[in-house]
Amino acid sequence: PPSRLPAVGTTIFTVMSALATETGAVNLGQGFPDFHCDPALLDAVDRAMRGGANQYAPMAGLASLREVMAAKIEAEHGRRYDPNTEITITAGATQAILTALIAVVQPGDEVIVLEPCYDSYVPGIVMAGGTPVRVPLVPGSFRPDFGRIAAALSPRTRAIIVNSPHNPSATVWTREEMLQLQALLAPTEAIVISDEVYEHMAFDGAHESASRFEELAARSFVVSSFGKTLHVTGWKVGTVVAPAALMAEFRKVHQFNVFSVNTPMQQGLADYLKDPAPYRGLPAFYRQKREFFRAGLAGSRLRLLPCEGTYFQCVDISAVSDLSEADFCQWLARTHGVAAIPMSAFYGDGFDQHVVRFCFAKKEETLSAALERLQRL
Ligand code: PMP
Ligand code: GLN
Repeated sequence: PPSRLPAVGTTIFTVMSALATETGAVNLGQGFPDFHCDPALLDAVDRAMRGGANQYAPMAGLASLREVMAAKIEAEHGRRYDPNTEITITAGATQAILTALIAVVQPGDEVIVLEPCYDSYVPGIVMAGGTPVRVPLVPGSFRPDFGRIAAALSPRTRAIIVNSPHNPSATVWTREEMLQLQALLAPTEAIVISDEVYEHMAFDGAHESASRFEELAARSFVVSSFGKTLHVTGWKVGTVVAPAALMAEFRKVHQFNVFSVNTPMQQGLADYLKDPAPYRGLPAFYRQKREFFRAGLAGSRLRLLPCEGTYFQCVDISAVSDLSEADFCQWLARTHGVAAIPMSAFYGDGFDQHVVRFCFAKKEETLSAALERLQRL
């Protein structure tokens, strides 16, 4: 049969993790922690399972978890989302983004993405029947280029996907940039899908959620992921919030997409998240890892790019090699035993700027083993 996604192969994260396993390289490629989550979270899930929370959850998610999330978002961003009509628990951020796209995009609609971007966005737009419109972030700084975004807007623009803190560039949008986005979209009907999975990893200032801005919030799906926030990427549980009218459309698709998300994890999360301490401590936790990793690379020939947020550090490889990013990552894993991700994987046309991404969500001993190898380059 004809392919639904003819241009798509296996995702770079799968490819690089497989290469790390094959070569025994230290895996700083795919983004996931190599340390354990809080045992209290495991206890909460264990209690939920043993207590019998093992049948279907309500379609929108357990009420207890939606209420905890409403309180969390209100405390952090000052906006009250109604747990009954404006919050849905999803099977991770990936499902939330795809479901939002399927819910709002009609054939022929355009959806703007800002490149480099997470690799699920463009296939998600295509699967939803839309046309991706790729707009580059400013080369070098990776800041949003509002002139180019404005030029990409058309009467057919149905949505724009934004992501801050940003994977892979590790930039964090400022309040002024969010206000510029809000102003730019004011005369349009465009919906925003705001991917905020790294919301608790903004190091040098606040994370400016789309939910903080009245007019932006009115047109936004705001997506978060417990996997990132609580060191459990394998659980695949996330949250999406949006105004009731948008959420009603989202849920029409969600109910036939997954129907509902696994119950014991939701109950465990609801129980555990009554205490905000775990995520309040996250910026300091990852800031320390960022400092450790950056200090370790400072004497190497890899040039550090700024890291304002996320658990990724990008480096310029020009002083080490003139290989393409993808070939460099193969060479680095095979001959120096460290796996990384080429930034070109986040561009539709494979744009190559001699930059690769490392994930520093790792135990200090893992980072030290990688640093020792990287210093020898
Ligand atoms: N968006 C971005 C920017 C991500 O980096 C990731 C995880 N790599 C996701 C979405 C997907 O998150 P989840 O695992 O919750 O589906
Ligand atoms: N989001 C993670 C990353 O950017 C990977 C998730 C995945 O493997 N799909 O590394």
